[in-house]
Amino acid sequence: MKAAPFLYVKPKSIDEAVALKERHGASARYLAGGQSLMPVLNFRLDRPDLLIDINGLSELRGVSNSGSGVKIGALTRHAEVAKSEIVKSQLALLSECIPHIAHPAIRSGGTFGGSVALADPAAEWPACCLALDARIVLRSSKGERRVEAKDYFLGLYDTARTENELLIRVEFPAVAAGTKAVALELARRRGDFAIAGVLAQAKKTGVRLENVRVVFFGISDRPVRLSAVEQGIAEGQPMETIHQAIDAGINPDDDIYQSGATKTHLAKVLLGRAVEQLRQ
Ligand SMILES: Cc1cc2nc3c(=O)[nH]c(=O)nc-3n(C[C@H](O)[C@H](O)[C@H](O)COP(=O)(O)OP(=O)(O)OC[C@H]3O[C@@H](n4cnc5c(N)ncnc54)[C@H](O)[C@@H]3O)c2cc1C
Repeated sequence: MKAAPFLYVKPKSIDEAVALKERHGASARYLAGGQSLMPVLNFRLDRPDLLIDINGLSELRGVSNSGSGVKIGALTRHAEVAKSEIVKSQLALLSECIPHIAHPAIRSGGTFGGSVALADPAAEWPACCLALDARIVLRSSKGERRVEAKDYFLGLYDTARTENELLIRVEFPAVAAGTKAVALELARRRGDFAIAGVLAQAKKTGVRLENVRVVFFGISDRPVRLSAVEQGIAEGQPMETIHQAIDAGINPDDDIYQSGATKTHLAKVLLGRAVEQLRQ
């Protein structure tokens, strides 16, 4: 199928993009990489009157050091995140995710900001934002505002970003040197969205794991961070106890392929493997 007819505009500045969106409201969509939006339009699941193509806004592109961390511009392609030396050296968790994100063609077109704006519960970048205490920077005609990742993901494709706000970048605080990161997931085919996934990060000091971060994705309507699981791993609690914390913290719904119980089981298996890798 082909998309229903729409008007197309390519603004030259962030101010112009935001002004256009505020003028047209719910009948307009920002267009970034188009890897998620265009299939939805082609299946006629959405029929906006206007597409506001933000690909001309070069200031939204690129990875940079911010002094106290790393900034990733909204228009940075997944493939650019993969190649970035800053990401490789400072945000190892993101590098671990790259092989799991779709296929090379989609990684060339899809953008970091598009993924965080869309907030698919099985996507890797939103889970990274939650694991690493990122701040999401949003722009409207009133100016910029920052939202902590823990307050940003509200539900299925639902975020604290209001209808017209443009996501302009994501800011990551510095990660301690020597921190190890693992990203594991199970998908029906390589490159598909995860049925269940886990991100885990910690610093190994002797036999102890410190500053443990664990985020599950694909198992709920949003990425899930469980402090009881992180604490259990840091304290070296037996896996059975940590599994109880998972049971208490998540309650996945059945979907057309898997039962909720299967997803919970997969989350436990993946976490066990991730912790083993962190301890090596
Ligand atoms: C076959 C296939 C497999 C995939 N597998 C995975 C996977 O395994 N993991 C994964 O994470 N993703 C996967 N994706 C999705 C891919 O990563 C998309 O690139 C991403 O979700 C959306 O980014 P985009 O730049 O293409 O956004 P678009 O498709 O352009 O936009 C998506 C939505 O976000 C809005 N939007 C985009 N940018 C902004 C912004 N800066 N501010 C405000 N709103 C904005 C748009 O209006 C639209 O509603 C897959 C996609 C396909 C087609």
